[in-house]
Amino acid sequence: MTRYLSTRGYRAGQRFSDILLGGLAPDGGLYMPEEYPQVTADELTEWRQLPYHALALRVLEKFIGDIPACDLKGIVDRSYTERNFRWCRPGPDGESRAAEITPLTTLETDFHLLELSNGPTLAFKDMAMQLLGNLFEYVLDRRREEINILGATSGDTGSAAEYAMRGKHGVRVFMLSPHGKMSAFQRAQMYSLTDANIYNIAVTAMFDDCQDIVKAIANDAEFKQRYKIGAVNSINWARLAAQVVYYFKGYFAATASNDQEVSFCVPSGNFGNICAGHVARMMGLPIARLVLATNENDVLDEFFRTGVYRPRGSAETQVTSSPSMDISKASNFERFVFDLVGRDPVIVRQLWAQVDAGGSFDLTGTPFLERLPEFCFSSGRSSHADRLAAIRDVWQRYGIMIDTHTADGVKVAREYRQPGVPMVVLETAQPVKFADTIREALGRDPERPPELAGIENLPQRVAVMPPDIAAVKAFIAENCR
Ligand SMILES: *Cc1c(COP(=O)(O)O)cnc(C)c1O
Repeated sequence: MTRYLSTRGYRAGQRFSDILLGGLAPDGGLYMPEEYPQVTADELTEWRQLPYHALALRVLEKFIGDIPACDLKGIVDRSYTERNFRWCRPGPDGESRAAEITPLTTLETDFHLLELSNGPTLAFKDMAMQLLGNLFEYVLDRRREEINILGATSGDTGSAAEYAMRGKHGVRVFMLSPHGKMSAFQRAQMYSLTDANIYNIAVTAMFDDCQDIVKAIANDAEFKQRYKIGAVNSINWARLAAQVVYYFKGYFAATASNDQEVSFCVPSGNFGNICAGHVARMMGLPIARLVLATNENDVLDEFFRTGVYRPRGSAETQVTSSPSMDISKASNFERFVFDLVGRDPVIVRQLWAQVDAGGSFDLTGTPFLERLPEFCFSSGRSSHADRLAAIRDVWQRYGIMIDTHTADGVKVAREYRQPGVPMVVLETAQPVKFADTIREALGRDPERPPELAGIENLPQRVAVMPPDIAAVKAFIAENCR
């Protein structure tokens, strides 16, 4: 059975369910499997034929040893339904491809998009969050426990969490968002939810202020324990495990045989999505290159080019037209560095002592930088102008509309195509979420799934509040009775 340890050395032989509801390990590190489960050639052959939910069960079984197989099957089947992921592009003959969950859209020979944004909130966060909602409900029911998820969002993560947790027993969600700062579409997506366990709080301040309130409350040990405060942030291992599945699915869709290799290009922010690709490769999936794409916030591109990891302060973070990648510190990156330094927690602790103190680290001249090529990463960055050009080009050449994040991926992917190796760009959101930039690029409104027409006019339920920790605490206390 797979057990988990921390990147900083804590090792208590935890099982999957033990780390599911927690965040960081007690030593401040991130959880990782003690060893990567391996996929055999026979398994790859058999998995090629499987529908998404069955493939997901096979992959997840390798990471989850403490949920009985038939229960896990139920959880996975409920998460990856055609209905949940129905917002997909029609196929060439106008047919729905929703049953594939993550259909592949071919732009030209050996150049594809893997559609990961067909879930309820039209961004790839749904791929993992839908599973997480059902896993949380199952584990909480079994333990007769409850959790109150507290978070701050500037868009994608908060709405994905709310759609995943709506109506789930034992779970309430309190989500802070900056009042008046999200797009009308994003506001409508979140605030029109009427489920009794979902609480939207619009704070009359900026996103950073929302996040500070969440941190302050999470640091109040007494309040945290009394109200069973939890989180669903991007360092959650279960989210990563769920994301491993679609690398397999994408590989099978882009190849005819298991002798081939595939490259993936991943629009990246917190290094969560591409970290799942790294895990898939370590399990034995034949991946040629993992191409990391950033926008103007290029901390990660800088690392892969120079060996220097220099997180920026939030004041240095630029606001861009691919906002879900506007990060200055990549919260999952420690997982990759753990593998890069030969899984030595002493070195990880040294490096992150520098990072946590607001500094940076430089691997030049160390044996670790020499090992970097073994991990098959490449990287590149994109600018607003590149993004507009990629959106226009894909529209004109192939008649396909892509969002701004996927555009960053397409731009960088083109720099790393190799003859005979399919390149799969992960499509992380739908254009309707970023309508202003689509209009700027194409002079027309983005396409929108017909069922979402007019969601801006639905009644909204949201509590508006000043940036006041006490007020937010009082609101949580009031609604937890
Ligand atoms: C979250 C997000 C990303 C970045 O993913 P990471 O896992 O943080 O690297 C990219 N695109 C979209 C649309 C997102 O919502």
